[in-house]
Amino acid sequence: MTTPTHILQQVFGFSAFRQPQDKIIQTLIAGNDALVLMPTGGGKSLCYQIPALARDGCGIVISPLIALMQDQVDAMRLLGVKAAFLNSTQSADEVRAIEQQLIEGVIDLLYIAPERLTQARTLHLLKEAKLALFAIDEAHCVSQWGHDFRADYLQLNLLHEIFPAVPRIALTATADARTREEIVSRLQLDDAEKFIAGFDRPNIRYRIGVKHNARQQLLKFLKSEHQGDSGIVYCLSRNKTEDIAAWLSEQGFNAYSYHAGLSAELRSAHQALFLRNEAVIIVATIAFGMGIDKPDVRFVAHLDLPKTLESYYQETGRAGRDGEPATAWMIYGLQDVIKLRQMMANSEGNEHHKRAEQHRLNAMLGLCEITTCRRQALLSYFGEHRNQACGNCDTCLDPPETWNGSEAARKALSAAFRTEQRFGVNHLIEVLRGTNNDRIFQYGHQKLPVYGIGQDLNNNQWRSVFRQLVARGYMSVDLERFGALRLEEKCRPLLRGEETIALRKDVQPTAAKAQTKVQLAPEVDIALWEALRECRRGYAEELGVPPYVVFHDATLQEMCLRLPQTMEEFSQLSGVGERKLQRYGPAFVGVINQHLAA
Ligand code: ADP
Ligand code: ZN
Repeated sequence: MTTPTHILQQVFGFSAFRQPQDKIIQTLIAGNDALVLMPTGGGKSLCYQIPALARDGCGIVISPLIALMQDQVDAMRLLGVKAAFLNSTQSADEVRAIEQQLIEGVIDLLYIAPERLTQARTLHLLKEAKLALFAIDEAHCVSQWGHDFRADYLQLNLLHEIFPAVPRIALTATADARTREEIVSRLQLDDAEKFIAGFDRPNIRYRIGVKHNARQQLLKFLKSEHQGDSGIVYCLSRNKTEDIAAWLSEQGFNAYSYHAGLSAELRSAHQALFLRNEAVIIVATIAFGMGIDKPDVRFVAHLDLPKTLESYYQETGRAGRDGEPATAWMIYGLQDVIKLRQMMANSEGNEHHKRAEQHRLNAMLGLCEITTCRRQALLSYFGEHRNQACGNCDTCLDPPETWNGSEAARKALSAAFRTEQRFGVNHLIEVLRGTNNDRIFQYGHQKLPVYGIGQDLNNNQWRSVFRQLVARGYMSVDLERFGALRLEEKCRPLLRGEETIALRKDVQPTAAKAQTKVQLAPEVDIALWEALRECRRGYAEELGVPPYVVFHDATLQEMCLRLPQTMEEFSQLSGVGERKLQRYGPAFVGVINQHLAA
């Protein structure tokens, strides 16, 4: 029998397993079940692809993402794997042909949508075939607490009952313990071996800045750091995604919107453009993303604050799955906090549920205002504790300054108190700065002792003070009164002078010091790099697949550095398996030799 390592090298062209891929693969080959939790980009697919090839029979992959099946199957076929899919987009003839091949035992991997899998016809078919394993991808869809819940997934416990001898592997990138327990109980995976990989994504640089002028800030970020890259921009509302996409297009970017209100055709058209091309930006609500396994997403930008750290981590995790440097960039302001608190107050659900939501939002705000390493804070939220700061987030690279904000905070709190906690931040700042206007006079606020006591700080500085007081729970937003700021119990010791408060000094977000797009090593000859990209583009177009399916950027870069001039040398590159060697080796080696001869 061919060993897993042999398959890894021959078929996939990778030299070594990442931890704990090999142990997972051994578990399945031995016929046991596995539950795999790995961050996005961790390398989950190999964990079922290799055992499916190593074991007799066909591996059945259950995936809710019909739109991606074609690409997954294309990618497998390019590697020389006999892969196919069954879903509702196919004609009856196509379906029959694939069913026939399954029975004949000539398919190694079959992707099936959950709703089709549980049909009597499919189950009957599977009983006739020889099966290597079941892989349940995006297994968190079985959880009714998550927002990706799929009723069809509940039926998947049938597999265990009907095919007790076929090993199962459930995979997800969703971290929290409750979802994990639900996966185990609903899919009857109590006996499965659990593999919980670390959650860190070291190649992602986390950056969170203060929102001043969202569009200009985004534009500057894209132009100075991610020109020509693919990325995702997340917004909270459907309208906003369309506005931002239209505006980015005017600015010369290939930008498309994506949200649940668009027709299914438009959604899949935009998704396909994103998956198949380089330099496409998707401006989306959270409806976009699950299972987007495009490896070369170079940035994820948030123009609005996600409601929870879980969402933030999942959304930012879509960047840099290829392991190359990527940026998670977000800007936020007091307005975002007010908007989110409002949405929560109006949401369905009982008090207990609302309190839990508040709690999660506070954790999110905590991350925004933190003055120590963001990655440490994120990982510790997910139960992974690190002693060392990461060196690859904004607070590590550019440690924020703090200032003693006690006096300013007291003034801000007094302003709210003296105006009977009935006014929003703009009015409070006018009072503090001693502004003359009708609204001030209408309420007689020019007579208050707090009037004009805050001239030492400008508008932005005051906004920063209020934002931090709200984010840290000293003040709250009165939603009955259109965002009036109220004092919270927590502010008493501060007001009485028994406590001080260190506030973060906001900086105008500047361009990062290091470029984060695919970093070409200085030795790379740009002319050769472009020639190889051209060669790759040719194959990608011919095959109708995205360029990275032919070769990843990392493999292309290795070609530039190692300059393989023979097939033998070419076969040593990471990402070059036997099939790709035969198919594309000659052309790429040709490009390199031509370049060297010129
Ligand atoms: P996930 O499904 O966990 O998000 P993927 O299975 O898509 O991640 O893998 C992410 C990337 O890592 C893919 O481009 C894959 O080819 C690559 N990869 C996975 N395992 C290895 C390995 N052992 N060596 C090199 N690259 C790997
Ligand atoms: Zn850090």
